[in-house]
Amino acid sequence: MNCGSDKVIYMDNNATTRVAPEVVDAMMPFLTDCYGNPSSMHTFGGQVGRAINEARAAIAELIGADPEEIVFTSCGTESDSTAILSALQTYPEKRHVVTTRVEHPAVKNLCENLDGLTGHKHRITRLPVEADGTLSMDQYRESLGEDTAIVSVMWANNETGVIFPVEEMAAIARERGILFHTDAVQAVGKIPINLKDSCIDFLSISGHKLHAPKGIGVLYIRKGTPFIPFLNGGHQEHGRRGGTENVASIVGLGEACRLAAAKMTEENTRVRALRDKLETGLLTKIPRALLNGHKTERLPNTANISFEYVEGEAILLHMNRYQICASSGSACTSGSLEPSHVLRAMGVPFTAAHGSIRFSLSIYNSEAEVDFVLDKMPAIIENLRAMSPFWSEANK
Ligand code: PLP
Repeated sequence: MNCGSDKVIYMDNNATTRVAPEVVDAMMPFLTDCYGNPSSMHTFGGQVGRAINEARAAIAELIGADPEEIVFTSCGTESDSTAILSALQTYPEKRHVVTTRVEHPAVKNLCENLDGLTGHKHRITRLPVEADGTLSMDQYRESLGEDTAIVSVMWANNETGVIFPVEEMAAIARERGILFHTDAVQAVGKIPINLKDSCIDFLSISGHKLHAPKGIGVLYIRKGTPFIPFLNGGHQEHGRRGGTENVASIVGLGEACRLAAAKMTEENTRVRALRDKLETGLLTKIPRALLNGHKTERLPNTANISFEYVEGEAILLHMNRYQICASSGSACTSGSLEPSHVLRAMGVPFTAAHGSIRFSLSIYNSEAEVDFVLDKMPAIIENLRAMSPFWSEANK
């Protein structure tokens, strides 16, 4: 199948990323000749086991962890569920979970369904955010109690890119003897992470957000952290996650982490400069365009901008005619016309939340693409506003 991807201007990298060509090359032998089972006793399987451990070491290196602290899972969602459910099973007498109002559905919906899943009644504190998407540390401190089993706070928000001070928050949780999990699915590969001296107990990674394939994830489990597996079965991952390993994807994720380490400076300079050019251009060229999220405490690749009095879905359809790909709200919530829970938590007015577009760039974007988007967007918004009864009402 030809997706015509060479013509596409892809600015939806927080939804998923292109698999890097180097990653595809690294994976190919494990989809063809090297098909042994890593648990087998023979040399044919053993060499596959060694490739898994090399990938494990590359992933550990990217986040400043020990290879033994890396457990492969099927996705970021599985990693999030595993960490939170493990803590609740470890401390069944503790029924309180602290999280935020802006988590990805992988954590948000799990917390909403905890009572059904564990058979226990839980108390969930969902920390509010400020208008710029940041958290209040005082409210965080006050939320922690004797019965708090785990704190789960994302490292960076998928919709706005806003970064939370998770290292500081984990240190506070540690002082109170509370486990700390962070969903770092959007942060890993984009900003430097070093877990060596941190108090983070669990951290989730998803391969498809950093140029590895979909369907591979990691749960980092700090050495010494009590842990109860989510998937029981074979002895894979030292008994921490049953199931024959997704070898090719694991190898691909290892290569993606090597690439991310090598390209971290580019992500934080060239990609950031492209994002800033796009953001400043849109905010200055288009009237009543607003940035959602903190100006600086943000991932270098993400710009979430509201165009007041127009529908995000309509904007996306018009962008699609030029093969410009972006998102309105998170990928998981598009398809529903509900404004995003993240923007609602930030108090973004209804008329702006509905017209929000998330542009998320990657190392594969070019300045010519940014210029093309800046050229097309003003007319798209102007034409839609010309048809909007809300816009004419607001400008009476
Ligand atoms: N957490 C965050 C912050 C995400 O952005 C996503 C995916 O969009 C996930 C978790 C889920 O990851 P996966 O698609 O690998 O299950």
